[in-house]
Amino acid sequence: MAVRDGTLLRHEAPGNGAPRRPEPGARGALPPMAHRTRRGAGPWHTASALARTRLLRRIRRLLSKWDRAERVEEYHVNLKYSEEYQRFREEVRAFIKDHWTAEDVANNPQLSEMAQGLGSAPRTDERATAFRREAAKRGYMYRHVPRAYGGGEQPPDPLKATIIGEEFKAAKTPPELMSQGPAMLIPTLLAHGSEEQKQEFVEKTLLGHIRWCQGYSEPGAGSDLASLRTTGVLEGDHWVVNGQKIWTSNAREADWMFALIRTEPDEAKHDGISYLLIDMKTPGIDVRPLRQMDGDAHFNEVFFDNVRVPRASMVGDRGQGWYVSRSTLKAERALIGNASMARRTFDGCVALAQMTEVRGHPAIQDPVIRDRLTELEARVLAAEYNGFRLLTESAKGHDGGLAGLVTKLHTSTLAHDVSRLAMDISSDAAMLAPGEERAPFSGMLVQSYIMYYALAIGGGAPNIQRNVIGERGLGLPRDVRR
Ligand SMILES: Cc1cc2nc3c(=O)[nH]c(=O)nc-3n(C[C@H](O)[C@H](O)[C@H](O)COP(=O)(O)OP(=O)(O)OC[C@H]3O[C@@H](n4cnc5c(N)ncnc54)[C@H](O)[C@@H]3O)c2cc1C
Repeated sequence: MAVRDGTLLRHEAPGNGAPRRPEPGARGALPPMAHRTRRGAGPWHTASALARTRLLRRIRRLLSKWDRAERVEEYHVNLKYSEEYQRFREEVRAFIKDHWTAEDVANNPQLSEMAQGLGSAPRTDERATAFRREAAKRGYMYRHVPRAYGGGEQPPDPLKATIIGEEFKAAKTPPELMSQGPAMLIPTLLAHGSEEQKQEFVEKTLLGHIRWCQGYSEPGAGSDLASLRTTGVLEGDHWVVNGQKIWTSNAREADWMFALIRTEPDEAKHDGISYLLIDMKTPGIDVRPLRQMDGDAHFNEVFFDNVRVPRASMVGDRGQGWYVSRSTLKAERALIGNASMARRTFDGCVALAQMTEVRGHPAIQDPVIRDRLTELEARVLAAEYNGFRLLTESAKGHDGGLAGLVTKLHTSTLAHDVSRLAMDISSDAAMLAPGEERAPFSGMLVQSYIMYYALAIGGGAPNIQRNVIGERGLGLPRDVRR
């Protein structure tokens, strides 16, 4: 990968300063072409067999040297930001200095190590809202969202986005919100929503004033989502919804749900689904928590008993829900596939290896642990650089293709492998429940270990991801479908 003058991934042809083939006749130059090719006249034909072998070896050595030199140049890496981007960084710093004061930082809630590690519970109070509004106005936040709906509306620029992220994080400002609403529904509404829906929901969702849950899965409709059976029947100006959703994350806290509902029972299964926005306060909705193996109740079942949803709450047309839902699913996989999750866990694992003693030495000095850390860091770096590649492609308006399809499977399995190493380093202390006083890192890494099993499944189980990669990415024959 090459990073030069602020442009990612520009492979350069040998240019200024590049090693060049020697001038004819100079030391290291090949014999003139005429001598090499004219039958019986050049040194080739007069030389002994030994001399010819030596000459051939020399030619091969020279060719491989030039080839290597050109390849090194081609993949030359320059990680310095150009002046334009350094100036941009200064502008961002000045903005933060004016808009997020030391007092604001002092008022940030003291999050537990676990909450910080998982990036959860960002502020959505008035002060944080005012900051987000200003940041969006300056084009530093929600850069992909039009200004008309409260976004920053900027051309895609992965380096600027990275600089903003770095500076905002260092200054502990409120971050962009990354939950189901901002990260998954907003791209869908921008692509398929009506003007009224965009006006009503986009800005409030970006500011965290409307929280969303995702009503896709049902008992019997997970991987085979198009088999879903929750029905919507049109009665006057309302859809009357009956049925059940399951595994609905955050449904108890959510204000609204984006849901897939079967409204066209006579159509083929993919063509009979519509995408509805449902107010969770509507009479007839019953939310029941499901407790997981880590003791938490993050999931829920949601039951619908004659729930009346206004007709205008449909995104896209009747029977187009499957097509609309692809936007949400793509955003969800990109969210889960983001390498930052694996990076955070890896950095935590390194810190743990520095703090923990194994056989009388810090674990970081143990050759087996070092070996596993090295292998994992190579995988984390590969995931990060693949992320840069995708950002660059999207900045050019291209789809990431295969590189985009692998992220969710790769990152979720990688993060799981990293937390597996953290469990091994912690040894029997890994048995301590999250929050226990003596649990390393407040049990955060144990929590991650359990959570990554779930994240590998949420948004599409690993085998389904493998099918997607094989069929859409590699053009392999399609799996048998029911
Ligand atoms: C952390 C988490 C959060 C979630 N949040 C939500 C949410 O907010 N909203 C929501 O709607 N859903 C949510 N889900 C549900 C999630 O989308 C489903 O669990 C997932 O799609 C798998 O469906 P399933 O659980 O029914 O498993 P199944 O579809 O029954 O799959 C079971 C196993 O069979 C394999 N399998 C199934 N079909 C095939 C096939 N054709 N080829 C090969 N192997 C196959 C799968 O890979 C898997 O290993 C969440 C799940 C998790 C774990």
